[in-house]
Amino acid sequence: MKKKIIVAIDGHSSCGKSTMAKDLAREVGYIYVDTGAMYRTVTLYALRHGMFQSDGTVNEEALREAMPTVQVSFGLDPATQLPHACLNGENVENDIRGMEVSSHVSPIAALPFVREAMTRQQQLMGQAKGIVMDGRDIGTVVFPQAELKVFVTASAEVRAQRRYDELTAKGKTVNYEEILQNVTERDYIDSHRSVAPLRQAPDALLLDNSHLTIAEQKAWLRQRFDEAVARQ
Ligand code: C5P
Repeated sequence: MKKKIIVAIDGHSSCGKSTMAKDLAREVGYIYVDTGAMYRTVTLYALRHGMFQSDGTVNEEALREAMPTVQVSFGLDPATQLPHACLNGENVENDIRGMEVSSHVSPIAALPFVREAMTRQQQLMGQAKGIVMDGRDIGTVVFPQAELKVFVTASAEVRAQRRYDELTAKGKTVNYEEILQNVTERDYIDSHRSVAPLRQAPDALLLDNSHLTIAEQKAWLRQRFDEAVARQ
């Protein structure tokens, strides 16, 4: 039996990381973890509990105190076999994908005590390897020893268009300009925060998928995965 590895997929917002990560995990029988969903779930908690002040900043003290009671987990949809995020046991997958959470998540993800809690949980999830994890700091902070690291990017316009298509397909009414602004803002905050900023690990393979189809990027990742497993 081949040794299991850790696959870390990081990159900018809405560049199709989760689609390729999910597909690979399904194909090779690994566990898939969407760490963005975890930060989104904490954000939903903060929104529901009125922890954003009128100037848009977070009431850090209130959230820090509440953190031990904020349980983020994943459930498996029996029909689709796809994971969904849960907040204290409630399936919140739909709620965390909307624009309200998207436009509040980056300041929450910049809080060191939130990152500590999520990072600890992610490291436990990957203890037995056999995992594909996507996020912003997986190859740099969560699993610096990951056997395969990929850093994905694409132009902001291409990413905004993909996000627009995705949300529209789900029946949501959205505005392209607003999405583009959100994608650009999140990239900026994610790359400039002091704790675990978004950056390419020196040993990560770069994938610019602006001009690739989903099938092409999927094949590219599978090939890199097979090479990484063969090196073990
Ligand atoms: O991947 P997704 O766009 O759903 O992530 C939402 C947000 O969560 C990102 O914009 C980023 O602020 C934060 N995030 C993070 N670290 C991760 C994954 C996501 O800071 N590992």
